[in-house]
Amino acid sequence: ISAGTSHQHQSVTDYAKPNQGTSHYQSTLTTVSTTEHLPPSSDQLDSMLGNLTADMSRQGVNTTQKGCCNACDKPIVGQVITALGKTWHPEHFTCSHCNQELGTRNFFERDGNPYCEPDYHNLFSPRCAYCNGPILDKCVTALEKTWHTEHFFCAQCGQQFGEDGFHERDGKPYCRNDYFDMFAPKCNGCNRAIMENYISALNSQWHPDCFVCRDCSKPVTGKSFYAMEGKPVCPGCVGADEDE
Ligand SMILES: [Zn+2]
Ligand SMILES: [Zn+2]
Ligand SMILES: [Zn+2]
Ligand SMILES: [Zn+2]
Ligand SMILES: [Zn+2]
Ligand SMILES: [Zn+2]
Repeated sequence: ISAGTSHQHQSVTDYAKPNQGTSHYQSTLTTVSTTEHLPPSSDQLDSMLGNLTADMSRQGVNTTQKGCCNACDKPIVGQVITALGKTWHPEHFTCSHCNQELGTRNFFERDGNPYCEPDYHNLFSPRCAYCNGPILDKCVTALEKTWHTEHFFCAQCGQQFGEDGFHERDGKPYCRNDYFDMFAPKCNGCNRAIMENYISALNSQWHPDCFVCRDCSKPVTGKSFYAMEGKPVCPGCVGADEDE
């Protein structure tokens, strides 16, 4: 009836620290201003002149006064789009990617070029690591990736993270409860997850409070103990003399 006395090694590990995602706003919206250039008044023209002559005269005046289109370099008559500090024919102020007229719609500017909203987001917005869609406004940066705020959630239960932040495993975020449920070592005394410090002994892990004599439940930490069926038993309960 002899169980060998052994001083078991124990180590304490603080093995999990939560990460915190950060939020920021991404990209700004630019709006266009439209100006309607009216033909100049024609009171110097003799009202006896025909319409044709009057129209030609107006065009002549317009071409000398209204600047040129930044896209085609031709004079602008009638409606002018003013955007990016330049003037454009409405039909020439177009998305740099799909060439659709931007008109007075919202557009985004990148390197001096205008883009329609969908193209800008598709081309330049950060991608969500969950759905791969472009991120239009609020963006969570975590795990060296970007995420829609509503798509950054626990990989196990789907809940978004609050103040506690999240825990990471294999590049996926987990809430505290699921993380410990799934990945934390289980205490060999009570079988529940170990959230913080633990004792490694008898080839398993233990809550410090659970590492006690199997028979009398007194702590055996830091003392000599016997191992009985994987549990510690103090020398008193085994019937051995406590001091060597
Ligand atoms: Zn033009
Ligand atoms: Zn476009
Ligand atoms: Zn997403
Ligand atoms: Zn969860
Ligand atoms: Zn325990
Ligand atoms: Zn005991």
